Amino acid sequence: MVKDDELFLINLPDKEALCLICNKKLTDLRRNSYIRHYKALHRSFLVQRGLLEDDELPGPSRKIPKIEVRTSQKIYTSSLIELVTVHGLPLNVLKYPAFQALTRPIEEGLNMKHISPENMKGLLKNIARQIKHIIAVETAGRMICLKTDAASRHVGIFSELISSLWTKQ
Ligand SMILES: [Zn+2]
Repeated sequence: MVKDDELFLINLPDKEALCLICNKKLTDLRRNSYIRHYKALHRSFLVQRGLLEDDELPGPSRKIPKIEVRTSQKIYTSSLIELVTVHGLPLNVLKYPAFQALTRPIEEGLNMKHISPENMKGLLKNIARQIKHIIAVETAGRMICLKTDAASRHVGIFSELISSLWTKQ
């Protein structure tokens, strides 16, 4: 069983509970919401502390042996991003049960939030924003050459500029 005081710092006057692992504040002070938060985000903590019943344990049957692998949240996340961008896999691949059979144990092992098509969109938006920023900084106040290509079904817009890296060569 899960004891609330091991998991959350409860601030009754402000009606807030602070997760002691990720510092997320919950405003729903019902015990079930703490447990839901821990089961969704900190499962491995619950497992380590023996706070989950056997039938609640995540992943495949207990008979399948546990393995150790070297990876990180960064490697895992950037690999998924690469699959749906560079390699053109549809975002929905993240929902396929067979794909999740591969990804869920890694997410659980890394104690991270599941990457769904929805939060992948958020990650991609952030990366697009960073790329736009880099382009804006690189092209600010400089002359660029714009070309459009409407020969295919899509309209392509290309910009070219001479970078200082080039002029030195
Ligand atoms: Zn948390």
